[in-house]
Amino acid sequence: MSVIIFADQAQGKIKKVAFEAVQYGAKVAQQLGTSATALVLGQVDNAELEALGNYGAAKVLHVADARLNEVESTVFTKIVAAAAEQEAAQVIVFPHNFDGKAIAPRVAARLKAGFVSGAISLPDTANGFVVKKSVFSGKAFANINITSEKKVIAVMPNTFPVEKTDAKATVTAFSPAISDADFKVKVSKVETVTGEVPLTEAEIVVSGGRGLKGPENWGLVEDLAKALGAATACSRPVADTGWRPHHEHVGQTGLTVRPNLYVAIGISGAIQHLAGVNGSKVIVVINKDPEAPFFKAADYGIVGDAFEVVPKLTAAIKQL
Ligand code: FAD
Repeated sequence: MSVIIFADQAQGKIKKVAFEAVQYGAKVAQQLGTSATALVLGQVDNAELEALGNYGAAKVLHVADARLNEVESTVFTKIVAAAAEQEAAQVIVFPHNFDGKAIAPRVAARLKAGFVSGAISLPDTANGFVVKKSVFSGKAFANINITSEKKVIAVMPNTFPVEKTDAKATVTAFSPAISDADFKVKVSKVETVTGEVPLTEAEIVVSGGRGLKGPENWGLVEDLAKALGAATACSRPVADTGWRPHHEHVGQTGLTVRPNLYVAIGISGAIQHLAGVNGSKVIVVINKDPEAPFFKAADYGIVGDAFEVVPKLTAAIKQL
């Protein structure tokens, strides 16, 4: 019996969400009296793999196959399921990010395992195997008892702060039987924007709404984000009108983010927007309308014109 964690990588670097998932999996393993094994697919340096021990993985299974440098969900599903079989895994943990969302449900179906996505608690093993997640756009919680023998959990990013130790994991090569025919999609080119913090993994997010009047004013959001080391986001109408790309749109129909700090500039705070951001630990709202609904969800609010407030705030932060 063991716990397996899918440790997601990009360009040879293990992602922060994977560290969170590994630490979560290690804690579940402790609860079950077993050990945690991280599974890494694609080319990654040995030092990176060993460092997964810092987050509680006793062992790392590594498939060093260049064809796996980019995620292809059907073949990744096959490999994760094969690793779970080999290790007799009772629990398989994923980060609840793009890749986890694509692979975890497929693995659960293949292994006939119960599945909880977006987990925000460790399992309560005193009462079965009960995992908590938020539902109805963050308005309620569901406590789900996974009763199947095998269990799949996708852990909500930015929910469990990571604590590092100096421990190192033992790295073992894993060679699942895969052929070119298993790859249903071929990634021919990947374009990355350098210097940008990935939105769903960001600890700080600066977000803009229609109050910014037009794309020509987005420098205001970007300057503040740069000063804070934050990712940028936007409300849906901003993406719909083409001021910003759709991958920055947060809310009910966009991405869900749970940063430590969410700064909303010129966003009214409609329920559909809040649905994607109300798990943020601290919310700061800048809006010229004191009656804007977002202030009800805010920890800190500034009533004022964004065009006056934001440059001053950015300048003050740069002084720190
Ligand atoms: P507005 O509602 O126009 O608000 C602009 C705000 O800026 C106002 O509060 C105003 O006081 C303030 N402002 C104006 N000028 C300034 C200034 N100079 N300085 C400071 N503040 C200023 N929306 C999302 O964001 N995400 C979603 O996922 C989403 N999904 C939806 C799904 C459905 C089914 C539906 C029906 C709607 C959805 N919406 C979503 C839209 C949502 O209902 C709101 O219309 C939208 O969030 C409003 O965007 P906004 O706050 O940027 O714009």
